[in-house]
Amino acid sequence: MSETHAFQAEVQQVLRLVIHSLYSNKEIFLRELVSNASDALDKLRFEGIRAPELLAGDPELRIEIEVDEEGKTLTLRDNGIGMSREEVVENIGTIARSGTRRFLESLSGDERKDAQLIGQFGVGFYSAFIVAREVELRTRRAGADDRAGVAWRSAGEGEYSIEDIEKPTRGTEIVLHLKDEEAEFLSDWRLRALVHKYSEHIAFPIRMKGRAEEGAEAAFETVNQASALWTRPKSELSDEDYQGFYKHIAHSDGEALAWAHNKVEGNQSYTSLLYIPAKAPFDLFGGGRDERHGLKLYVKRVHIMDAAEQLLPGYLRFVRGVVDSDDLPLNVSRELLQENRLTQQIRSAVIKRVLDLIERMAEEQPEKFKSFWSEFGQCIKEGLTEDYANREKLAKLLRFASTASEGAEPTVSFKDYLGRMRPNQTQVYYITAESHLAARHSPHLEAFRAKGVEVLLAFDRIDEWALSYLHEFDGKPVVSVAKGDIDLSQIPDAEGQSAASGGELPEGLADRIKSALGERIKNVRGSTRLTESAAVLVVDAHELALHTQRLLRQAGQGVGGGQPTLELNPGHALTAKMAAEADEARFADLATLVYEQAVLAEGGQLEDPSGFVRRINRLLVA
Ligand code: ADP
Ligand code: MG
Repeated sequence: MSETHAFQAEVQQVLRLVIHSLYSNKEIFLRELVSNASDALDKLRFEGIRAPELLAGDPELRIEIEVDEEGKTLTLRDNGIGMSREEVVENIGTIARSGTRRFLESLSGDERKDAQLIGQFGVGFYSAFIVAREVELRTRRAGADDRAGVAWRSAGEGEYSIEDIEKPTRGTEIVLHLKDEEAEFLSDWRLRALVHKYSEHIAFPIRMKGRAEEGAEAAFETVNQASALWTRPKSELSDEDYQGFYKHIAHSDGEALAWAHNKVEGNQSYTSLLYIPAKAPFDLFGGGRDERHGLKLYVKRVHIMDAAEQLLPGYLRFVRGVVDSDDLPLNVSRELLQENRLTQQIRSAVIKRVLDLIERMAEEQPEKFKSFWSEFGQCIKEGLTEDYANREKLAKLLRFASTASEGAEPTVSFKDYLGRMRPNQTQVYYITAESHLAARHSPHLEAFRAKGVEVLLAFDRIDEWALSYLHEFDGKPVVSVAKGDIDLSQIPDAEGQSAASGGELPEGLADRIKSALGERIKNVRGSTRLTESAAVLVVDAHELALHTQRLLRQAGQGVGGGQPTLELNPGHALTAKMAAEADEARFADLATLVYEQAVLAEGGQLEDPSGFVRRINRLLVA
């Protein structure tokens, strides 16, 4: 019985997008269809562990590509798991996958940008319509009756038909009726070149017809390597091989930045091949992780599942690759993986390998590392909050802008910092702020400048949160300059600088200011932080920096945390002027202005801007 169905609206949207935006890169349809065939073979091999009869009669798993030049069709065939009628409707007619939904949500409507996104995403089955005016799919689920075959057909224009057929072989056959202008995909050498380019490292044989011999039909021959790349010795593999496999496994047109390929033998044996992509995927910080394209778990060369969640911590979600274990049971389930001792060992080793790979990059390939840091630095910072065991290793990878470097580029490591510490300096100092300039010009840095003490400038949103998990580096406390007490008195002054005037405020001044400012501040005290500015706001050591408090408030989150303390520069002329001011009204104006200056310098907003202007004017004309 043949029925006609309309595509889900979202499918139509994807179809239109794929066809229009990918036209310039249309050849990728072959990669996508071969990758689906390979997935189908993987699934059959996996189900075959429990039900070997599924493979009976046709145990050699393979993909075939065949051309009919006269009929202008290109056919891809696999003897994999196949689909039932329900599965065809479900998998090909609707978009149930959360990944695709997220993809749609992330589209901007800007065609050029979207085309790049699509390329990153892996476009799947619908890419067939880039080159085909009509697509026919015939499939039968492995183990099902011959009469349980299904034929699906569509011109990619809003509807498809579906019909029950008889199909004696299991698996899926896809016939592309090529558009007239796509005849290049009938060319044998063109297709072979595409297989080499995109599908060389599919672990199953891809077979195409060879030259016809006199009087006989041409026989199929294998046109790809057809071996699991990670099982081959490193010495046999070129960078090109690794990059090719990366594209396959990451469903990506992009390059890998670096990789680590290791065979472990010992109390358990496994091979891992781990990649760091050159570019972050579009949704790295969006709707969570696309686990389907993360880390694939194999057991004895059989693809068991995508196990990124079991084998990688969240902050390493950008890693792609393969782990192939000889010791895990073939029937291992997700639940079992979670608590399995072998898995936990593999997981720790995988994390270590990735971090070592990055560390080596930082030491030996600074340019590469720079690009890594700009793509994935945030993830490493997240790692500080998640991965206690590797905190020291992660801290070594951190990079910041700094008062000892120019510009906003994060180039300074803790190690660099330690090498430049001043005599008697015992702590590592950083400042967090909303922007590079807010950090670099903060009054909090004045005393540090006077002492020649370097301060790391941290202005990523995540910085304050991440650094709050890092209490020390190499035994040195890591401390925010804007919080708590800072004592630089043991450190000699820098050449040509006069130190912050430390110490006490004139008798009674703090109390007068406190009563003038009321609830706005917690306390008033003399500052050891300042050389030029009159005043600065400080929070307690355990509190969030003021700019972070603002951020949270803007996001509608309540922030605990008390009022800031106002620190006043005892050596500043304004301090002396306030102390000498007998008129209480004028004193209140001065005190309020000093407080307001501190708020502005810190990047905050005034509660009462026009009051501020009035106060200034009163003093200007006085
Ligand atoms: P993805 O491969 O990322 O899941 P696709 O659009 O490529 O997305 O394919 C959609 C679904 O259609 C697959 O997940 C699979 O369930 C099904 N499918 C596609 N091709 C085949 C095939 N050759 N054999 C069996 N199932 C297939
Ligand atoms: Mg696919």
